[in-house]
Amino acid sequence: MIARVRELFHKLPGGSGINGNWSVMTNDTNGDVIVSNTYSAMLEGMYCHDWDFQAAYRHTNEGEWEFVGLVVNEDTNSCECGHGLKEYLEELMPY
Ligand SMILES: [Zn+2]
Repeated sequence: MIARVRELFHKLPGGSGINGNWSVMTNDTNGDVIVSNTYSAMLEGMYCHDWDFQAAYRHTNEGEWEFVGLVVNEDTNSCECGHGLKEYLEELMPY
């Protein structure tokens, strides 16, 4: 893993429902880094759904990581435990 990708990797959140391991891929075409993990959502105190998500980062000319966006792989409106999930995850992700 190249140094600047490792630097991003160490800022990724753990806990708060994100209990899996991060996987990190580089898009060879544009250099973006795609990170993915699973969010285990609870509803009324019980585990309800695991939601897989991906987030993209771009390395800027200033040497910073820019958060490009986040996608949850399934329709989070299909269950109550997914409501507001994308916004929640976006807040947890480093900018
Ligand atoms: Zn659910």
